[in-house]
Amino acid sequence: DLNDFDSETESVCPFCGVGCKVSLKVKDGKVKYVEGINGPANEGRLCVKGRFGFDYIHHPHRLTTPMIRRDDAPEKGLNVDPSDLSTHFREATWEEAMALAGDRLSQLRDTHGGRSVAGFGSAKCTNEEAYLFQKFIRQGFKHNNVDHCTRLCHASSVSALIENVGSGAVTATFNEIENADVAIVIGSNPIENHPVAATYFKQFTKRGGKLIVMDPRGVGLRRFATEMVQFRPGADVSMLNAIMHVIVEEELYDQAYIEKFTENWEAEKAHLKGFSPEAMSEICGIDPDQLRRVARTFANGKAGLIFWGMGVSQHIHGTDNSRCLISLALMTGNVGKPGAGLHPLRGQNNVQGASDAGLIPMFLPDYQSVTDDGIRKAFTDVWDSDDFSNEKGLTVTEIVDQVYAGNIKGMYIQGENPAMSDPDVDHARDAFAKLDLMIVQDIFLTETANFADIILPASALYEKNGTVSNTNRQVQRVRPAVTPPGDAREDWKITVELAQRIGLDWAYEDVSQVFDEMKINMKSLNNITWDRLKTETITYPSLTPTDPGQAIVFGDGFPREDGRARFTPASVIPPDEVPDAEYPMIMTTGRQLEHWHTGSMTRRSLVLDAVEPEANCSLHPKTLRRMGVEPGEMVRLTTRRGSINIMARADRAIAEDMVFVPFAYVEAAANILTNSAIDPYGKIPEFKFSAVRIEKA
Ligand code: SF4
Repeated sequence: DLNDFDSETESVCPFCGVGCKVSLKVKDGKVKYVEGINGPANEGRLCVKGRFGFDYIHHPHRLTTPMIRRDDAPEKGLNVDPSDLSTHFREATWEEAMALAGDRLSQLRDTHGGRSVAGFGSAKCTNEEAYLFQKFIRQGFKHNNVDHCTRLCHASSVSALIENVGSGAVTATFNEIENADVAIVIGSNPIENHPVAATYFKQFTKRGGKLIVMDPRGVGLRRFATEMVQFRPGADVSMLNAIMHVIVEEELYDQAYIEKFTENWEAEKAHLKGFSPEAMSEICGIDPDQLRRVARTFANGKAGLIFWGMGVSQHIHGTDNSRCLISLALMTGNVGKPGAGLHPLRGQNNVQGASDAGLIPMFLPDYQSVTDDGIRKAFTDVWDSDDFSNEKGLTVTEIVDQVYAGNIKGMYIQGENPAMSDPDVDHARDAFAKLDLMIVQDIFLTETANFADIILPASALYEKNGTVSNTNRQVQRVRPAVTPPGDAREDWKITVELAQRIGLDWAYEDVSQVFDEMKINMKSLNNITWDRLKTETITYPSLTPTDPGQAIVFGDGFPREDGRARFTPASVIPPDEVPDAEYPMIMTTGRQLEHWHTGSMTRRSLVLDAVEPEANCSLHPKTLRRMGVEPGEMVRLTTRRGSINIMARADRAIAEDMVFVPFAYVEAAANILTNSAIDPYGKIPEFKFSAVRIEKA
């Protein structure tokens, strides 16, 4: 009976960056079902994860009490049974666990210096929790070695956007596709990864909009595409430069826009001369005629949007890939007007907000540089604290390397699972086993928590109060529908107490006080108040106290010194690891519709796990035949980092020299295989391209 519930609470889906608004119906202290409601990003729609993937919050594996590693525990490793933690951990009171955590963090800081401790915050947490986490590391340990999963997701996109348009967020909401007549979706599989956003893309084609889908995999959106451009993995720059070459050659660019709003056009134009479709066709694998057609279709549109995902960002040339997309939008005058813009589709539900809140080693909140003395002072004045380091901090993978080298001895990890998500996870797991102190704050015994010394039971999003910001820059309230199980606590409360335990004078009693403090130094929150958020979703920037926010930005110029966006030419750089006789195929990784990131939540959801229960990889049927493998049989994938055995599926949409491996499955962890080589600007690993050998298992 759908009318049989005790209470209903509005919140936001905990999974992808679309940020669908939901109503949670609660019966007897448990969420009974979830309905989509009329949020600006979803207008009542939900995907299978949002609709059915809520029950993980009531899973029996939830952590309900603080745990401390036993003195007689076996050696650290991926060896704890999540249904019986007692072999490795003993239960503790909050008082004992927090006293121990505070004492040991302080001891490391006082003995080895603040840099002996680093932190990973989380995009699964609220804006307020992300803000407090970065403040905890910066104020408590006086450095910037704090990061989160944005490093593994869109760091290169953000680096190119900040460099060339002056801001790391999207210039237009995805809903602006309603006003577009042409759109590019590149390196993104929205039908699986941003399913509700994909419904808007499908509606756009129904109205006659021209959709250009570009991806090395034949992703599902190809069924709706005017053009499907299935290019060679890692060949983004050659393909995009060839398209821009045509726009220059045929003078399809918007001269008036370029003159008014941009700089460095002549250099870009000159650079593009060497990238004719004929010259690039061999590299990107696309016929010159199709490259010309795509160039004309996009440039001749009245308003065009460009969406991209991790297929663009997760390369050693990820920043260059994004630079090309920015140049393409700028030369066609497609920023700052209805139906036009740049939109990197964000992955986790609050990766935009956590980045905005300063959970980044180079930036304080609102992307304000840690190297600027005045900016640091503005923050330390509010925090009533001494100055901290003016050096950019270490990123996720750099922190893991420093842990491995023994220079970082303690870590505080909130809601992230680097023992599954780091590239080269075997290296990460070896590193974590060496730590003197690992504090993990999470809702489940994640793979990372296997290595913990102290585990702090935290809260799921449907148990939290605060705000989150989606891919559209829309700030929305989340509210607790149910209480955390047992003694588990909201994350922000745990961080506040831990701060007090290491000697910081923090005295927040309500999460709204954290939000009010964030507003002091975050211009993006101007005119956005806790009171307004009780009833409104607000798209930052909000220009007046009643403005619902700006769906499109930069109509009058860019937030760069001279108000102009910049063309930054990009050259072709080969992948870090090209296939050879020993490793002749290409492996790419990603997500599936049913499973979210490292699977810690969705694999504990009854429906989602029933729909997609087993680790699998996708290969072309011809490749399987050549290997003598039937669909459903096991194959062995080997790279220079390691091997996994995994079930093979046939997929005609994948190129014959490629394999696609989802990264949600611990029993066949894709990141044992992935390459940790990084983009020099965004420092994002090259998850999308590893040379691999495939054999029948
Ligand atoms: Fe949740 Fe994303 Fe699905 Fe919306 S599209 S219901 S935010 S997973």
